[in-house]
Amino acid sequence: MPTAKPLHSYNKYWAECFGPAPYLPMSRAEMDKLGWDSCDIIIVTGDAYVDHPSFGMAIIGRLLEAQGFRVGIIAQPDWRSKKDFMALGKPNLFFGVTAGNMDSMINRYTADRKPRSDDAYTPGGVGCKRPDRSVLAYSQRCKEAWPDVPLLIGGIEASLRRIAHYDYWQDAVRHSILLDAAADMLFYGNAERALVEVAHRIAAGEKISDITDVRGTAFIRRDTPANWWELDSTRVDMPGKIDRMINPYLNPREMDDCEQKRRNEAYYVVDISTLNMPRKLPRDHTVIRLPSFEKVTADKVLYAHASRVLHMETNPGNARALVQKHGDVDVWLNPPPIPLTTEEMDYVFASPFARMPHPAYKGEKIPAYEMIRFSVNIMRGCFGGCTFCSITEHEGRIMQNRSQESILHEVEEIRDKVPGFTGVISDLGGPTANMYRLACKDPQIEAACRRPSCVFPGICENLNTDHKPLTALYRAARKLPGIKKILIGSGLRYDLAVTDPEYVKELVTHHVGGYLKIAPEHTENEPLSKMMKPGMGAYDEFKQLFEKFTREAGKEQYLIPYFIAAHPGTTDEDMLNLALWLKKNNFRADQVQAFYPSPMATATAMYHTHKNPLRRVNYKSEQVDVVDDPGRRKLHKAFLRYHDSNNWPLLREALQRMGRADLIGDGPQHLIPRDQPTTAAYQSPRRKNSQQAHQKRTRPGGKMLTQHTGLPPRSQGVSSKKTAQPRSKNSQHKGK
Ligand code: SF4
Repeated sequence: MPTAKPLHSYNKYWAECFGPAPYLPMSRAEMDKLGWDSCDIIIVTGDAYVDHPSFGMAIIGRLLEAQGFRVGIIAQPDWRSKKDFMALGKPNLFFGVTAGNMDSMINRYTADRKPRSDDAYTPGGVGCKRPDRSVLAYSQRCKEAWPDVPLLIGGIEASLRRIAHYDYWQDAVRHSILLDAAADMLFYGNAERALVEVAHRIAAGEKISDITDVRGTAFIRRDTPANWWELDSTRVDMPGKIDRMINPYLNPREMDDCEQKRRNEAYYVVDISTLNMPRKLPRDHTVIRLPSFEKVTADKVLYAHASRVLHMETNPGNARALVQKHGDVDVWLNPPPIPLTTEEMDYVFASPFARMPHPAYKGEKIPAYEMIRFSVNIMRGCFGGCTFCSITEHEGRIMQNRSQESILHEVEEIRDKVPGFTGVISDLGGPTANMYRLACKDPQIEAACRRPSCVFPGICENLNTDHKPLTALYRAARKLPGIKKILIGSGLRYDLAVTDPEYVKELVTHHVGGYLKIAPEHTENEPLSKMMKPGMGAYDEFKQLFEKFTREAGKEQYLIPYFIAAHPGTTDEDMLNLALWLKKNNFRADQVQAFYPSPMATATAMYHTHKNPLRRVNYKSEQVDVVDDPGRRKLHKAFLRYHDSNNWPLLREALQRMGRADLIGDGPQHLIPRDQPTTAAYQSPRRKNSQQAHQKRTRPGGKMLTQHTGLPPRSQGVSSKKTAQPRSKNSQHKGK
């Protein structure tokens, strides 16, 4: 793995003398109080400002503050005019614009493209406090306010829209957001390392347009520099038969017009007979040219190919730069950032966070904060590579872990500082519950690896799956004075957990608050293979361990499995089989999740192109069954809620069409009854519960069903209510 300058090794900026602010200022009055005449850097964000390490603006703002810069925050500004963007004056160095912890379109619309009325990242949970495509709107206003101030964009929205990408809400391929925002630089992935370097270089007088060598950044170029080798993406992964014999290594600067034109017209450009360059190219000076925006827009096979190549070039140990033409300019992506070391992770999390929303909100509740105020983020990254989730694309698949000491210190901070703490930590986790300190056994193999997942199609033999450091962390955290309980709320990667039964025992005996959520996502192999998820064998194995250790502990606790409807590669028969499995196992889903095509996810590329980028793509390669018709989406969701009488007419019709009328009837072998009930239609247990809360509460006879299964009422356990989670970014599920 290439090495990088440690985050804490920079000379601090002169403004360090002002010291850390109690909260990063959101107004001139606060700046005056701090003795600042100006901000060096202003962060504009679509989320309310919560000074907590789970919120992007806080972690970046505090890190830049630790480097000596004066950082101001403009949170959820009115984007209709430039007024709010001028509230803190002109920044000395740059504007940093982010949509917030989520893509603004996912924040504002449901998976069925319906507007949401609420927003978990806003005081009071109210909606409409941010615009669609927030990065674009905010960038425009920043430029109007201070045209000569460098504009840097980052966060999940910018990161996952860094090249030409399919946009579900517009149902079209959009430009790299870098172009539409007219930004000077885009930061993708976790931006700490890149941002610290760029901030110091701008502060030292370097022009933003001259900074082109920082990993994890993207910018506009007009030409490939002379000392770089350009490699066409079809040389990395050929998308079909070879139509033309053209030298792919030819630098465009050296092409005559005729050759350039010929090459632009050709889809496949491979010529191994006319190489006039070294066989082994220097990776650090090789750039892979993806098909242009115009080509991927016009040709879905090329879109799928570009997506596949982008995902192949994500390991910082071997990834090369990428370039993609948009009209007459190139969007240039430097290779991904080098992961933070444990020492650097500790440094980032050691900032003096107030751990509370800014006082300007006057104590109004921010739902996303309420969810995580007693939880601790212990790691970043995910090597699962689930295709519907973008965490791997954003945070990378090399785990970045905090030390046990740093994590325990944060638990003590919560105990000592956060109002309302009752002794229960609601989560020690991250993108998943149990990838802490798991990594490839050999750093050299890791640096050379090109696999998109360390756990699919099976657990890689090179993966160290020893959960002992995590078990030790749980034990140490439980021993801290004043800590009554440590719960694990992040999703468990159960195929990994079963490799270490001692860990499962520890988890089940001490850290499950009534329910444990896990995400098989499906029961059928075809959709699972498109998701890059393990088969149900691992689920059954885990369930056995879970039940055994639960019994031994004398507890009453339950597994809550989550499933996705309408994922690419799912047929109606697959959903029927899933429904039959749910019925057989007595699971009744209260809420269902339908596939949400988020920017840059591999499954989104499947959704858009009907091709499978997990394998080599060409015009004849596998066609993926995509559920993009609203009627079929509705049917797939109905299968997940086979017990809801509102869905029975639709399911009866579908079963008859599928030749499975034998599943309609009133016996235990039937999926749905023949007749509609004469009484009121099905109501979810949640609704029933909430109605009962307003009526006289009487204990119902027998078992009462809760959210997902025949479980006790929710009040007897920890709520499994799912809302947007600060660390979840664009994932369909935070834990997999
Ligand atoms: S060799 Fe295996 S464990 Fe190592 S990085 Fe690659 S997939 Fe992961």
